[in-house]
Amino acid sequence: MKRLKFSMAVCMICFLTMTSCSAAEVPANDKDVTAEPLAAGTTQTATFSDVPADAWYAEAIAYCQQHGIMSGTSATVFAPEATLTRAMLATVLHRMSGTPAVSDAPVFTDAVAGSWYSDAVSWAAKNSIISGYGGGTFGVNAPATREQAVTILWRYAGEPEGSAVADISDAASVSAWAQAAVRWANANGILEGMTNNRRFDPKTNIKRGEVASMLYHYLSNTTSSQPGPAAGGKTLVAYFSATNTTRPLAEYAADILGADLYEIVPEVPYTDADLAYYTNGRADREQNDSTARPAISGSVENMADYDAIFLGYPIWHGQPPRIISTFLESYDLAGKTIVPFCTSHSSGYSDSSIKSLAPGANWITGRRFAGGTSRSTVEEWINGLNLPQPAVDAVTSATSKAGFNFETKSVTLNSGYEMPINGLGTYSLHDKTCVNAVKSALASGVRLIDTASAYGNEEEVGQAIREAIDEGIIKREDVFVITKIYPGSEMANPEQSIQACLDRLDIGYVDMMLLHHPDRNDVKAYQAMEKFVEEGKIRSLGLSNWYVEELESFLPRVTVTPALVQNEIHPYYQENDVIPYIQDLGIVVQGWYPLGGRGHTAELLGDEVISGIAKAHGVSSAQVILRWNLQKGVVVIPGSSNPDHIKENTELYGFELTDAEMAQINALDRNEKHDWY
Ligand code: NAP
Repeated sequence: MKRLKFSMAVCMICFLTMTSCSAAEVPANDKDVTAEPLAAGTTQTATFSDVPADAWYAEAIAYCQQHGIMSGTSATVFAPEATLTRAMLATVLHRMSGTPAVSDAPVFTDAVAGSWYSDAVSWAAKNSIISGYGGGTFGVNAPATREQAVTILWRYAGEPEGSAVADISDAASVSAWAQAAVRWANANGILEGMTNNRRFDPKTNIKRGEVASMLYHYLSNTTSSQPGPAAGGKTLVAYFSATNTTRPLAEYAADILGADLYEIVPEVPYTDADLAYYTNGRADREQNDSTARPAISGSVENMADYDAIFLGYPIWHGQPPRIISTFLESYDLAGKTIVPFCTSHSSGYSDSSIKSLAPGANWITGRRFAGGTSRSTVEEWINGLNLPQPAVDAVTSATSKAGFNFETKSVTLNSGYEMPINGLGTYSLHDKTCVNAVKSALASGVRLIDTASAYGNEEEVGQAIREAIDEGIIKREDVFVITKIYPGSEMANPEQSIQACLDRLDIGYVDMMLLHHPDRNDVKAYQAMEKFVEEGKIRSLGLSNWYVEELESFLPRVTVTPALVQNEIHPYYQENDVIPYIQDLGIVVQGWYPLGGRGHTAELLGDEVISGIAKAHGVSSAQVILRWNLQKGVVVIPGSSNPDHIKENTELYGFELTDAEMAQINALDRNEKHDWY
């Protein structure tokens, strides 16, 4: 029935309109085709009159045609330069997924039930691959932009992590919601053919030839790569599946990983009545009782042999079934890596109730999948996991998840510029004290200096830098200078204020300018800073004292995504919810008051936990706090006028805090802000 519906739709729509013919995406041979990985080097020449054999997309189009993912707009025409609508993209991905059956009609006001795209649209929405277009619509006929298409593919792939930065010159123009996807696509060669001189042009509508190229690179790259987990060790996939929803995913995972498969079988099987929700049946009662431990039939005999355990389960009432608790408590899992994966209809991922049941295990945040998830999605997720590899020299070679390179002591910003990850803050330093502090820092190897118009010391900072250049200590390009413009009259007259900062510093260009605080004129001020970036007078932009709500409202109103957010962060005020939110946007986080700020440093540096850890490593409390920040992916700019302290604050790379020490410091959080903003 479904095939007939598709075929009729092809005829109808192709008859009516050729170029935007969505149904032309249906395989010409009227056959349901699942995308299979193509053996390396395999190609097939497409027979389209508008696809020359030497065109850059010819191989990709041949691949997509061969695998039934895309076909021509007619038997002889592919229309590689034509755009592709969001409904077409949904159809292509639905087909790539093996055209899973769909029971729901589309919920969008512009999606017609029973149309050629309706199954695909319902499937894409239900699996959170394509969200609505606004106002309850799907944007059925809206052309997909490049960043939309890449984001949709990224969601299809299970939102894998990519690199910390995208190697494209216009990364800053990528919308905040698309940043992670573009970084992933860039890291995996998926943007090939969509960049020109490293320019991606994210807002340009994607063309059919580019879509073919994107899918070709995605499928050929992701299906040929080998998963990294359990390098040097053995992996077990253990799963519980009362209704056979989790089972296929566990089987895929075991196959992909080359792992042993173990089913957690209850001694007393669950009947349909046991599983009926809100009947006070067995599952209801167990989930309401955190001490319930349903017995398991049999056990894993050789658990000691496994280094990594992938643990699969459904979500019942928002949590793993209690039999998973029984499983975890039955073994000594200390030192093993546990990677949960769960299935649910609508609940989110959940592992918080079970993590404490495997003391000493290394838990990796896993993923929730919808029932019927494809093998390729599971494979992409597994390949994207960053599991511990044996024998890594963390102190010298670690690159943190925030993209910090501990060898070069720097991070590459989304603007493409490199910034040191430790620097000097100059708040409250004035006159000679400020000049001396900055020069002392530069002589100690510090290459990041933070100032602000409001600190009233830009002239002294500029003077110190110019003197250090004249004395041959640094070149201008060696040092990264941040300054800020202030709310009120400065942001009301931004061009004037920005130029005044440049004049006071008098060091040519400014590496980064921040808006010091949110203000009613902040968007206008930011837009003015964008113009200075275009003129080459400022290199990167950022914000200070912007938290989740402020970012949510601000980001959609500006073109260039900020490269950095500077907020108060120290062990007594940790912002553990805000930091990952900002980092996930591809924005670097920098902490002010890293040592608690003047008036608070004594208490923080004297904290028993911190000084105990410092003693264990033979370093100072200040160094422990600064290193803790770096390991969390937070850039540090401690303030000091004391040359010994300044030097000490650079010596952060010869030791590493253990996970347990990081956890001890994390536990010191008091949500205690040391300034009002
Ligand atoms: P901080 O770095 O938390 O603390 C500075 C204090 O720590 C100074 O009293 C300094 O004294 C002491 N100190 C530094 N290194 C030390 C060490 N190794 N051992 C013992 N004591 C040490 O506070 P901050 O300077 O106010 O903040 C850091 C920077 O963040 C500022 O300078 C500024 O650039 C920035 N900031 C930004 C905002 C914003 O709204 N964006 C707000 C506040 C601050 P000595 O001089 O004796 O070393």
